[in-house]
Amino acid sequence: MQIAELKAKELKPSLFEMSGISRRTVEEHYKLYQGYVNKHNEIVKKLASVDLSTANQTYSDIRELKVELTFALGGVKNHEIYFEHLGGNGGKPSGRLLELIERDFGSYDAWAADLKATGIAARGWVWLAFDHDYGYLFNYLGDAQNTFPVWNATPILALDTYEHAYFIDFGTNRAAYIDAFFANLDWEPVARRLEEAERMYKALRQD
Ligand code: FE
Repeated sequence: MQIAELKAKELKPSLFEMSGISRRTVEEHYKLYQGYVNKHNEIVKKLASVDLSTANQTYSDIRELKVELTFALGGVKNHEIYFEHLGGNGGKPSGRLLELIERDFGSYDAWAADLKATGIAARGWVWLAFDHDYGYLFNYLGDAQNTFPVWNATPILALDTYEHAYFIDFGTNRAAYIDAFFANLDWEPVARRLEEAERMYKALRQD
């Protein structure tokens, strides 16, 4: 079984003109993202020739490679969502996205307060995700690229809370960084991801 090699996506220019989150932070952050892409490809190559007969749950090549693949691939996917929806003008979402946020959290402000608190409580990531089994939105918490994902849920927004995302600009003041994250959000890709997730949800229930 062969997984395709990945290529790092380019950053859009507006990511270098954000308020609060500096060009330097984005440049350094992008290097980490490229690192995840490279490590993913390195692991995939090694998996293609791994000796399956040595499989062992305490230590084996296949075990180590498959564990770290989730970290590398998580790092790729999380950052692609993160970079895609930053570099915008903030404000509030609209349309179906706002409707579902209000339905599932009570109000936009209640959702934003929950995201911020979850972000302060997380050691790595917060995802707003759509659950395909139950059809709702929830702010999930992750401590690393690959911890605590929920099966059959599509992340539509990803907030990086690792220190590399803010320490240069905000020191230990993560709350101020999360405020800057909101202020630079581009809601369009978030709305598009929700639309795609809901299309899948409806398609699964059509026959
Ligand atoms: Fe990051």
